[in-house]
Amino acid sequence: MARGGALLGCLLLGLSLALARGAPTGQFWHVTDLHLDPTYHITADRTKVCSSSKGASASDPGPFGDVLCDAPYRLIVSAFDFIKNSGQEASFMIWTGDSPPHVPVPELSTDTVIKVITNMTVTIRSFFPSLQVFPTLGNHDYWPQDQLPTATSQVYDAVANLWKAWLEEDALSTLRKGGFYSQKVPHNPNLRIVSLNTNLYYGPNVVTLNETDPANQFEWLEHTLNSSQQNKEKVYIIAHVPLGYLPFSSGITAMRQYYNERLVELFRRYSGVIAGQFYGHTHRDSIMVLSDGAGRPVSSLFVSPAVTPVRNVFAKETNNPGVRLFQYEPRDYTLLDMAQYYLNLTDANLKGESEWKLEYVLTQTYGVADLQPHSLYGLVKQMAVLDSKQFIKYYKYFFVSYDSSIVCDKKCKALQICAIMSLDHVSYTDCLKKYYVKRGR
Ligand SMILES: [Zn+2]
Ligand SMILES: [Zn+2]
Repeated sequence: MARGGALLGCLLLGLSLALARGAPTGQFWHVTDLHLDPTYHITADRTKVCSSSKGASASDPGPFGDVLCDAPYRLIVSAFDFIKNSGQEASFMIWTGDSPPHVPVPELSTDTVIKVITNMTVTIRSFFPSLQVFPTLGNHDYWPQDQLPTATSQVYDAVANLWKAWLEEDALSTLRKGGFYSQKVPHNPNLRIVSLNTNLYYGPNVVTLNETDPANQFEWLEHTLNSSQQNKEKVYIIAHVPLGYLPFSSGITAMRQYYNERLVELFRRYSGVIAGQFYGHTHRDSIMVLSDGAGRPVSSLFVSPAVTPVRNVFAKETNNPGVRLFQYEPRDYTLLDMAQYYLNLTDANLKGESEWKLEYVLTQTYGVADLQPHSLYGLVKQMAVLDSKQFIKYYKYFFVSYDSSIVCDKKCKALQICAIMSLDHVSYTDCLKKYYVKRGR
């Protein structure tokens, strides 16, 4: 009963959102970082619950998982089950990678990585047989992890075969060669998804060290954005490793800095074409606003939290499992709103049932008009103020409401704020000076 009531609440809230705008809105789901651990099982010896705990004792294992383990199959199924029964009409889903578990390299192989991606693809297809899905590869969707290559490989070939139901021949052809593609969205005229393989730019990828344009992806991206501009299309960028700086460390970009600068330049130049950017990989819920050279906000970026709740044994914090729904204006694809849903893992394990709930609706929780760059820029300016209640909310949602007692001190807050609003080296350095380093000392 409780489950039905909560679900109804979510549905009504979603409905009131759409109705308030007076026009039908387009919607799509974003799921990421499933990180299935096929070894997960409940057993008396807590060091043996899952191989992703790497020998550490699971902390409180239950049917839906444990914070020291990657996702049991049952948790992943509960997420898709929630989406399927949410009553929300979506025209497509984006799925931004990382299916295999976090385990030492020798415990996996090309074969097991392909098996896990196959399992997740088949699972998604079985839940949503007629839904258009746009996948991307994550740094864990390869063996050895992070080493995604610049030419055709067994994994690129395997996913091109697996994703035939979703992707057209042109898309499959670049996917086979470099792990990236672009494709128009069915029933959404002039909307194109550009799925990038940003794993080629990821620091630990030694295959691409010293390469200026791995797999010629920059050249391809520029050409793709240029033809979208000519054809008056709008583009949603999807990728695994995000643009910009990591919000929990000082001065570290998610990609190698050279590639980050290059992408920032390209996204600024084509910001009129790009209607939104969607990433995964950090497992946390964060936003970014890309500004142009003159400091004007030009692009909105969203990093979706993971389905896996796993944390490193040395880390204090983690995230509850999350999935999200975006709303867009169907005429020009501007982003209107986002609803974040989550599973309170502790509660789910205690009750033995999964009650996915609405965590927040972005415009309502922050009182912003929409998800346009200037709206989000206004929000981050409010967050930057001392003792901002907006920021306290943002920081709670950053961990998907895992623990609202975690405090973000002055330095932590400066890193978060600067990661949201400064995506290139020069503006990030200036931002940290402004919000953290004391002047004149
Ligand atoms: Zn991940
Ligand atoms: Zn990742």
